[in-house]
Amino acid sequence: MSIVVKNLKHIYMPKTPFEKEALKGINLEIEKGDFAAIIGKTGSGKSTLIQHFNGLLLPTEGEVNIDGVAVTKKNLSDIRKKVGFVFQYPEHQLFEDTVFKDIAFGLKRFKLSEEEVKEKVYSAAKLVGLDESLFERSVFELSGGEKRRVAICGVLVLAPSYLLLDEPASGLDANGRREMLSLLNKLNNSGVTVILVSHSMDDVAEYAKRVTVINDGLVALDGTPEEVFSKRDLLRSMDLDVPEVTGMFMDFSEKSGIPLPTVVKKEQGRDLLIKLISEGRFSL
Ligand code: ADP
Repeated sequence: MSIVVKNLKHIYMPKTPFEKEALKGINLEIEKGDFAAIIGKTGSGKSTLIQHFNGLLLPTEGEVNIDGVAVTKKNLSDIRKKVGFVFQYPEHQLFEDTVFKDIAFGLKRFKLSEEEVKEKVYSAAKLVGLDESLFERSVFELSGGEKRRVAICGVLVLAPSYLLLDEPASGLDANGRREMLSLLNKLNNSGVTVILVSHSMDDVAEYAKRVTVINDGLVALDGTPEEVFSKRDLLRSMDLDVPEVTGMFMDFSEKSGIPLPTVVKKEQGRDLLIKLISEGRFSL
């Protein structure tokens, strides 16, 4: 079970003066259960790529397979049951007069009883940590973070196996950001495959199990966060950088001559610092 991308090309507005080849032959596989991050500078092709995962865009050339089934015009409704998409600023798509109705909106097209709808809404709300006391409120009364939870809940209510998110933390404050990322982590632990487009190397380092770097419509790097973030010079050449804590340890290693592993998580950094101090190799 996985998303397999084979030689995917996408040309916008072909055969016009505005023709743009946004994807130039992407090959990629994302396993079920993964927490995958897609990074790359603005315009590199990240959004174009993930929009192919649930058929919002179809390939100009190549193929995208979801659990062995190619995404085509004919099976979009099956694909979209399996692959949920959370847009940037998803709260802009909330328009019902209560939180409950907004969460339940996507269920309308299935002929479910009132009881079944209620059950699905309650269990999705529990998953994202939304209190039932909010159900009868208007979304306009909610905080930014809560609104976004409602929007994500409206996607999760359809029980997708794969969840695509395009910059889900953008516009949130530091607390909201942390909450959003830990929610995604929780969803991933509960079995949802998370595919996240992010600008934040720190978020990616903390939570992703695998990182794909897109550059100019192609996969430039693909691997664990440690593998990808060990290539600082290459990342810099693509207008990216390593997470803050990784950069600090790389600078220290270079200046002190002490070889160190690639540290991506803050927790690993803290442990390594304690070790270096206790061994007398670093003093404050
Ligand atoms: P990213 O998500 O990495 O910022 P995009 O996938 O949005 O990159 O864009 C990749 C390239 O395709 C960019 O050059 C962008 O200008 C172009 N592009 C994106 N959407 C469209 C569109 N609807 N029509 C024409 N060109 C587009």
